[in-house]
Amino acid sequence: MKRAYARREFLKTGVAAGAASLLAGRADGRPGGRRAASGDGAESGRALAPPPGPVVVASGNGLRATDKAMELLRGGASPLEAVIAGVNIVEDDPEDITVGYGGLPNEDGVVELDASVMSGPAHAAGAVAALRNIKNPSRVARLVMERSDHALLVGEGALRFAKAHGFVEENLLTDKARRIWLKWKETLSDRDNWFPPKPEKAPAEIAAFVASYGTINCVAIDARGDLAGVTTTSGLAFKLAGRVGDSPIIGAGLYVDNEVGAAGSTGRGEANILNCGSFTVVEFMRRGLAPEDACREALKRIIKTTGYQPHLLDAGGRPGFGLNFYAINKKGEFGSASLWSGQSFAVHDGTENRLIECPYVYEKKKG
Ligand code: ASP
Repeated sequence: MKRAYARREFLKTGVAAGAASLLAGRADGRPGGRRAASGDGAESGRALAPPPGPVVVASGNGLRATDKAMELLRGGASPLEAVIAGVNIVEDDPEDITVGYGGLPNEDGVVELDASVMSGPAHAAGAVAALRNIKNPSRVARLVMERSDHALLVGEGALRFAKAHGFVEENLLTDKARRIWLKWKETLSDRDNWFPPKPEKAPAEIAAFVASYGTINCVAIDARGDLAGVTTTSGLAFKLAGRVGDSPIIGAGLYVDNEVGAAGSTGRGEANILNCGSFTVVEFMRRGLAPEDACREALKRIIKTTGYQPHLLDAGGRPGFGLNFYAINKKGEFGSASLWSGQSFAVHDGTENRLIECPYVYEKKKG
């Protein structure tokens, strides 16, 4: 029978539980005393549960984001302000090659960023896609939400909108990202005109970047029970110019319903778009599933529909890509689930800021 761990109990067993298979492991951090959602929606949850207190959840690269967001929430910031300020740290960091400044470029060597934000109390969202030369797409996404009558701006129009709001264009391609891209380009084929420096052969590290994903998602609930979220990324490394992933697609890379919860995603955006992943997680929470279970059910849906695309399956018939979900419900319970082992998520539950291993569906072979 399923149950949620009490927080204290979880702290002892969380990593072990997370490392076990999804069928066995749970990583919900809160709630021993909080009863599982009844399935009759947030109204009853709101009436029966104590105030959740601030909680912030992010993808595994978001420990600094959860820390910052919690600091701001404690100071009275809105969850939207808090999560955006949190992910801005990662967008600004040239060492994170999956988000903002220093993100890996598209196949032409140009960095194109995607981001979305969603605010629970207003049920409002804004997003930008394929945005060039602006290192904080999450802040532009917020302006799309607050200062336009639209939900999503792309490419040149998104850039013009950002500049109209005073954002300054800059080159987002760091030397590190350029060198990785150049190696990828030079070792892509022995039938083109790009040669790697001799005697270099296709380095193994480049193989790791091909079809490499990375993003930051951050969702939060404040002491009033209001929710918000943000997802921001440079998307799939070496993608076709103009490719848009799930991160700026409301319902795929991010979804917030202030009566139910918030969810976000990292991993193969195409699979997530095809399954409205984050919306699906929130809808499972609306039906009463705990956040981790809701993430797991959404993954099951993705596994099932990927079966229609045999080229995406590995030799064992499993999705040959990664995908993770992160979620918080209206009661401040949180959880995550990942297709493959070896992933983690960041949580600040008001007491402690830490990384937790994601429960997963498939064990990745070591080595
Ligand atoms: N979801 C992102 C995308 O498809 C990439 C990632 O999260 O790794 O653009």
